[in-house]
Amino acid sequence: MRAYRLAGWKQGGHYVEVDQPEPGPGQVLIKMGGAGICHSDLHLMHEWSPELIPELEAFVPDFTLGHENAGWIEGVGPGVEGWEQGQAVAISPVWSCGRCAACRAGEDSYCEAAENRSGGIGLDGGLASHMVAPARSLVALQKLQPSEAAPLTDAGLTSYHAVRRSLDVLTPDAAALVIGVGGLGHMGLAYLRQLTGGLIVAADPNEAARKMAAELGADLVLNSAEHTAEAVMEATGGLGVLAAFDFVGIDPTLQLAASVIRKRGKITVVGLGYGTFSFRYGALPHAATIGFTFGGSLNDLTEVVALAENGRVRPHIQHFGFDQIEEAYHALHEGKVEGRAVILPD
Ligand code: NAD
Ligand code: ZN
Repeated sequence: MRAYRLAGWKQGGHYVEVDQPEPGPGQVLIKMGGAGICHSDLHLMHEWSPELIPELEAFVPDFTLGHENAGWIEGVGPGVEGWEQGQAVAISPVWSCGRCAACRAGEDSYCEAAENRSGGIGLDGGLASHMVAPARSLVALQKLQPSEAAPLTDAGLTSYHAVRRSLDVLTPDAAALVIGVGGLGHMGLAYLRQLTGGLIVAADPNEAARKMAAELGADLVLNSAEHTAEAVMEATGGLGVLAAFDFVGIDPTLQLAASVIRKRGKITVVGLGYGTFSFRYGALPHAATIGFTFGGSLNDLTEVVALAENGRVRPHIQHFGFDQIEEAYHALHEGKVEGRAVILPD
């Protein structure tokens, strides 16, 4: 089969002919229905190396890219029960052990046994006609087609996980700020509109992203430039926001979040822009917190699929053919993708 693979750090992706994989114990073979294109792939293909991020030592290229996957079960490996051939499934990009304290607490994305490797992130992913995945990572699709559901597994999952951990502070009289309304951010915004009742502010330098933010129900949409913090303070009566979601993660966006967060507020950094934030007394108001999140849990994915299948949220998708993978990554790099690009297999 043809696969789109990362051959080495900072070498970009390439089409390569490889053998179709076979499911091992506990695994299923998936016939791909769609693979979303994530900004993390651009970091993986062009920016990162183990010198920058020592954790990447475990990833060892080459491997097939594509960690936002959905398809149909075509075969099951030894020991797999309860999954039928032909069942449509969404595949979590978080491959967890199910035994450690984090997994037992339902927080699989902080699995303490795994090295954060999964299909498309260190192991073979979904930019091919087939992939194998642990049966444990699957969520059944009842209504949605895999080509429509693929973005739910990372853009949808990671943003949901981020929003969920701030729901306790997002009372109807509170405000939230979404920084970066791309693949992840537009879904984050949709969850905020669906699950909370307060003011929602969105910031993005890209005009098309700002238009989408307004359509998704943001109350105030800002260009993420110099006066954004002032505008947020003004819109919130000088108080600031109780939750800020940074889907970019560079110095100016971390600074923006820190400058508008309110006492007791939560800043969730999801973007892997590698920015820095200097933490000391006074850097954040009292009891405000800042932290990175990674992916989401299997429970989160189940809830995300339910929200999408019930029509409460819907990813904005641009489909590309398998021959257009480079075009899709280029469009993402240029900021020309509205919502999420999804590759359809041959
Ligand atoms: P994307 O390219 O689809 O969206 C990024 C958006 O941010 C774009 O709309 C862009 O215009 C906007 N943006 C750029 N600079 C900005 C600025 N200074 N202020 C405000 N907005 C700005 O990317 P994506 O696929 O949604 O991914 C977003 C980030 O999240 C990436 O860094 C990606 O690697 C990361 N990510 C993290 C996880 C995780 O588990 N933590 C999972 C998936 C993706
Ligand atoms: Zn991703």
